[in-house]
Amino acid sequence: MPQYRCAICEKLLEYQGDLPEVYPFCSARCKMVDLGRWFSESYSIDRDLTPEDLGATPEE
Ligand SMILES: [Zn+2]
Repeated sequence: MPQYRCAICEKLLEYQGDLPEVYPFCSARCKMVDLGRWFSESYSIDRDLTPEDLGATPEE
Protein backbone atom coordinates (compact mmCIF):
# COMPACT_ATOMS: atom_id res chain seq x y z
CA MET A 1 0.00 0.00 0.00
CA PRO A 2 1.46 3.42 -0.92
CA GLN A 3 2.54 5.63 1.91
CA TYR A 4 3.53 9.21 2.52
CA ARG A 5 4.68 11.17 5.52
CA CYS A 6 2.76 14.16 6.79
CA ALA A 7 4.67 17.34 5.99
CA ILE A 8 3.83 18.78 9.41
CA CYS A 9 3.80 16.08 12.06
CA GLU A 10 5.69 13.45 10.02
CA LYS A 11 3.11 10.83 10.76
CA LEU A 12 3.30 7.96 8.29
CA LEU A 13 0.08 7.44 6.37
CA GLU A 14 -1.22 4.77 4.04
CA TYR A 15 -3.77 5.32 1.34
CA GLN A 16 -5.50 3.40 -1.40
CA GLY A 17 -6.33 4.72 -4.82
CA ASP A 18 -6.25 8.47 -5.18
CA LEU A 19 -4.20 10.61 -2.84
CA PRO A 20 -6.18 11.85 0.14
CA GLU A 21 -7.72 15.28 -0.06
CA VAL A 22 -5.45 16.45 2.75
CA TYR A 23 -2.25 15.24 1.03
CA PRO A 24 0.62 15.94 1.79
CA PHE A 25 -0.75 16.20 5.30
CA CYS A 26 -2.35 13.63 7.58
CA SER A 27 -5.39 15.69 8.44
CA ALA A 28 -7.16 18.98 7.94
CA ARG A 29 -5.54 20.11 11.19
CA CYS A 30 -2.02 19.73 9.81
CA LYS A 31 -3.08 21.33 6.57
CA MET A 32 -4.25 24.35 8.57
CA VAL A 33 -0.95 24.45 10.44
CA ASP A 34 0.89 24.64 7.16
CA LEU A 35 -1.40 27.34 5.82
CA GLY A 36 -0.93 29.26 9.05
CA ARG A 37 2.83 29.11 8.67
CA TRP A 38 2.64 30.25 5.08
CA PHE A 39 0.37 33.14 5.97
CA SER A 40 2.45 34.21 8.93
CA GLU A 41 5.56 34.28 6.77
CA SER A 42 3.85 36.20 3.99
CA TYR A 43 2.01 38.72 6.07
CA SER A 44 2.48 40.24 9.46
CA ILE A 45 -0.48 38.98 11.42
CA ASP A 46 -0.23 39.62 15.13
CA ARG A 47 -3.25 37.64 16.18
CA ASP A 48 -4.27 34.02 16.03
CA LEU A 49 -5.44 32.83 12.66
CA THR A 50 -8.94 31.53 12.35
CA PRO A 51 -10.30 29.18 9.70
CA GLU A 52 -12.11 32.17 8.24
CA ASP A 53 -8.77 33.95 7.78
CA LEU A 54 -7.54 31.03 5.75
CA GLY A 55 -10.64 30.80 3.60
CA ALA A 56 -11.23 27.24 4.67
CA THR A 57 -14.55 25.53 4.69
CA PRO A 58 -15.62 23.77 7.87
CA GLU A 59 -15.09 20.07 8.06
CA GLU A 60 -18.09 18.13 6.94
ZN1 LIG B 1 0.10 15.55 10.38
